Amino acid sequence: MPIKNDINADVRAIVARLVEHGHEAYIVGGAVRDLLMGIQPKDYDIATAATPEEVRRVFGRRRCRIIGRRFRLAHVYAGRDIYEVSTFRREPTPEERRQRVNDDGIMIWRDNEYGTLEQDARRRDFTVNALYYDPVGGRGIIDFVGGREDLEQRRARAIGDPAVRIDEDPVRALRALKLVGQFGFHLEPSLEEAIRQRGHKIAAASQSRLFEELLKILGSCHGIPILEALQSYGVLGSFLPTLSRQWDAPVGRQTRALLAERDARVRRGTYSNSKTLALATAALSHVTARLGGARLEDLWEPAGGVEHHCRAAIQEFFAPLPVSRFFAARVRDTLLTLPRFKTRVRKTHLLRHPQYAYGRELYSLLITVCNADQRLLEEWPDQGPRPPEKTPRRRSRRRPRRSRNNQPPRQ
Ligand code: ATP
Ligand code: MG
Repeated sequence: MPIKNDINADVRAIVARLVEHGHEAYIVGGAVRDLLMGIQPKDYDIATAATPEEVRRVFGRRRCRIIGRRFRLAHVYAGRDIYEVSTFRREPTPEERRQRVNDDGIMIWRDNEYGTLEQDARRRDFTVNALYYDPVGGRGIIDFVGGREDLEQRRARAIGDPAVRIDEDPVRALRALKLVGQFGFHLEPSLEEAIRQRGHKIAAASQSRLFEELLKILGSCHGIPILEALQSYGVLGSFLPTLSRQWDAPVGRQTRALLAERDARVRRGTYSNSKTLALATAALSHVTARLGGARLEDLWEPAGGVEHHCRAAIQEFFAPLPVSRFFAARVRDTLLTLPRFKTRVRKTHLLRHPQYAYGRELYSLLITVCNADQRLLEEWPDQGPRPPEKTPRRRSRRRPRRSRNNQPPRQ
């Protein structure tokens, strides 16, 4: 299985520069897996023997920032793109885990002990995610854990004891099922057993991490097969309990139909691959039911307080995952444009609405999924594709500098 696709030139240049400065460096993880399957990777991860500080010395402060507390790594900038460069790590020992948090020493909360290349491979989750590729030297693919063979067989196999690995980090159950839904992998039997018995533990994982995973699942344009895998292995109930409960009810079936149509359109390039729009598509059926719509295509009557109820219904659909304020407002505003397409009041207002384009795309899904009135869309011009939204960067933790002349009194 040779790598046939082109490798991103920036990634190759970053690896080459680290190697020139005497640091071992490779492409690793999902990017190598995807390249070997003949899929163009969405993102690249680079692993190196250099510490984050050494990486910063190689690229300078302007091109490199060190981020993360749970997992310290370097971000290297190339034009407008950012690449993650992480230092080889090893699994922390139970003693080290216990010292960090006062618990039973099973869950891994931080993962910052540097290690060798082989130790780095062994702390990764699945064999197919632990392959390294050397794009500049002659080493080609490096495989310590039998990942190539598993990849050829489309088999998800945990590195080490699957029960232990899922107890350490239950998000791995979800990551295994992403391989099943997205690429048609099957689970190695002991991993399957561990997921069935322990997958519910994801409820204890960091919820903002789970929300990030949800965005990746929906953004993969294989959202529905992944959610189906999660439901059939009993994990969805601990991830998106509302959807899991509704799964076979009319409202759940409509949610699935909307998401399946979205997946297909995103793959064809006829639906924006926007996170806001993906979340709005997922929540639409539930929100309609909550706002009193008898049928999905009838939507709801605009009424006083609808904004508040709509927002509450969105939170309820994704609970317990926290929808950030950034997305909650945009998803709500996108959904609230929908009934306005029908009433036609204040048409120019709607045309200038920031979420008009997404609202129109969502309305066009309703035409396919539940025969909403097609003629309506002809009255509303297609304003062309919209670039995906920029998610806000985390605010810097540094306090704003005080002006010298006008210092507020100390508290
Ligand atoms: P995707 O296509 O969704 O990006 P990915 O496997 O690349 O899939 P990332 O979140 O980008 O997922 O992670 C990069 C790599 O980091 C993984 O391939 C894996 O080697 C390692 N990794 C990620 N999450 C875990 C985890 N929970 N436990 C162990 N290793 C992990
Ligand atoms: Mg990745």
